[in-house]
Amino acid sequence: MVENNNKRTPSVVVIGAGMTGILATIKLREAGITDITILEKKAKVGGTWRENTYPGVACDVPAHMYTYSFEQNPNWSNYFARGPEIQKYFEGIADKYAVTGKVRFNEAVTGARYDNGKWTVETSQGNTFIADFVISATGILHHPSKPDIEGLDSFQGDMFHTAEWDHSVEIGKGKRVGVIGTGSTAAQFIPELVKTGADVSVFMRTPQWLLPMSDFTIPEWAKAMMRRFPFIPNLFRNTGKFTLEHFFTKAVTGHKPPKFILETACKLNLRFSIKDSVLREKLRPNYQVGCKRVVINTTYYKAIQKSNSHLITESIERITEKGIVTRDGKLHELDVLVLSTGFKPLNFMRPMNLVGKNGLHIDDAWGEKIQAYRSVLLPDFPNFFLMLGPYTPIGNFSVIAMSEVQMNYVLKLIERWRNREFDELEPCQKAIERFNGYVKDGVKNTSWVGGCNSWYLDGDGDPILWPYTWKQWVKEMAEPDMNDLMTLKTPESQHSIEVA
Ligand SMILES: Cc1cc2nc3c(=O)[nH]c(=O)nc-3n(C[C@H](O)[C@H](O)[C@H](O)COP(=O)(O)OP(=O)(O)OC[C@H]3O[C@@H](n4cnc5c(N)ncnc54)[C@H](O)[C@@H]3O)c2cc1C
Repeated sequence: MVENNNKRTPSVVVIGAGMTGILATIKLREAGITDITILEKKAKVGGTWRENTYPGVACDVPAHMYTYSFEQNPNWSNYFARGPEIQKYFEGIADKYAVTGKVRFNEAVTGARYDNGKWTVETSQGNTFIADFVISATGILHHPSKPDIEGLDSFQGDMFHTAEWDHSVEIGKGKRVGVIGTGSTAAQFIPELVKTGADVSVFMRTPQWLLPMSDFTIPEWAKAMMRRFPFIPNLFRNTGKFTLEHFFTKAVTGHKPPKFILETACKLNLRFSIKDSVLREKLRPNYQVGCKRVVINTTYYKAIQKSNSHLITESIERITEKGIVTRDGKLHELDVLVLSTGFKPLNFMRPMNLVGKNGLHIDDAWGEKIQAYRSVLLPDFPNFFLMLGPYTPIGNFSVIAMSEVQMNYVLKLIERWRNREFDELEPCQKAIERFNGYVKDGVKNTSWVGGCNSWYLDGDGDPILWPYTWKQWVKEMAEPDMNDLMTLKTPESQHSIEVA
């Protein structure tokens, strides 16, 4: 901690150098905070976009919106930017803002313990860092989830998860490829596999609703115009934001007109894209549109109707060394098995030996229920900020916009610490309970409780998403409500506890 004209400057540990960790570092520096340690367990920045290199990987919100607000990119090649281009963008920003050089790569945070106003952070390299604040930017879709199917490890062909795509495996004519899973990722790469001429078998447990929003290449002249007139990429950004805010987010949080439009669009898409009525019925979900994350895609339905792709709805019984055996006893022989089975979103920063006040371990704190106040603060874990925590408005909106709102909130709290309003800060129990009740009330109206099982739900089946509008979230995150927070001055300052 550095003192400067009575205003102090904290030391901060940032965990993770993905989109959020890069943003946190840039914004801390802008606020005049320079004692920052960035710990990244892998060898490069980029997080999601470094890991996910499967064929066809792309964002499914407009690229000009999947961009930091302070670093518009007039050069996006597509309306929905491809993964490698997004990775390049983040690498470029991390270089431009001198973040890359400061990251301690290949150094995972294994534990962090809070004691008397300080965090002691331990890493896989055996190093220890002492900090006033910890910002956990470890991502939500980060830990691959592999299916618990009998015999999975006995498969003798090539097998990998989509987030660990093995590019040394050739896929083409003559190869029999099995895919387990049919979410947003599968909808992006299955068409690419089908294009190679490989024989692709898609093992589907639950069909998805697909909204046909076409991608398009942005012509060179348009990019030149955007470089010349920065208001144009901003226009793209704002149009995308308007659509997502007033259409998508409202549709899934219970607003009837956009909900009706979204449902109709998805249902018409299924009706007119799939010619064969038997296949169409197999692909028809039996839950509300928006209950699972709506898949934005125009290529999957075409691909699944090609002669070299097969939709298998019979459930999987076991996996053998040769392939997949379905409940009807049929063995589907395979050369390659792709696990498109998503991530463990409830992990957040875990596994980590994260210990808050009074020796409370995060696994015990979240033993009964995962919770966070306003998505960022955890009771008993003072001066610890969880980026993209529970009740962030994730789901068909730009996560970058969410991180920016959260970082602004975090900075406002750090600023109060700098002004010596407190040494230690955490949400008070009453506020947590009130917040939980408020969220629970809103959830009743959402599509997420519309009869499906999804990664939006916690162990009790309760959505871990913000159930109100984007505008409402931004408004509530604009200024910390200090009545909801418990602040303490450590012995070096003076003892004074203010509890609302
Ligand atoms: C295939 C795919 C497509 C997506 N498409 C979209 C989209 O279109 N729009 C959208 O808004 N969002 C999308 N997302 C969500 C995406 O994850 C976020 O947009 C964003 O990348 C999250 O950034 P992050 O920095 O918070 O997390 P991540 O990108 O996951 O980065 C976390 C970083 O923390 C590091 N880390 C984790 N644990 C530790 C540790 N213990 N110690 C040190 N380092 C650690 C990781 O190695 C990683 O680099 C997509 C996700 C996936 C998987």
